[in-house]
Amino acid sequence: MDQLERLNRTAERVVEAVDKVKIVLDFEFCKECEICISVCPRGVYTKSENRNTRGYRYPIPSRIERCIQCRQCEILCPDFVISVITSRR
Ligand code: SF4
Ligand code: SF4
Repeated sequence: MDQLERLNRTAERVVEAVDKVKIVLDFEFCKECEICISVCPRGVYTKSENRNTRGYRYPIPSRIERCIQCRQCEILCPDFVISVITSRR
């Protein structure tokens, strides 16, 4: 993994919309099942171009500004990859 890829992965791990919601991904545990992508009612997630060390392309919340904090992605991910952190917690 080169330095640029390392920086990209670090940036992808924590994505935050200003004053709203933060999504933290432990993407090394992701197995690319895409449940999070399909259950999100707002189309927040896209797949990363990067892969984790097991070869899976994990999701990134690239449209986090659309998030309505329903937490379906967090609840339904079978591998506990996603944490949705809101001011309501
Ligand atoms: S639901 Fe979890 S394991 Fe499946 S693609 Fe999303 S983050 Fe990865
Ligand atoms: S909390 Fe809801 S709206 Fe936000 S990314 Fe997860 S599924 Fe999508």
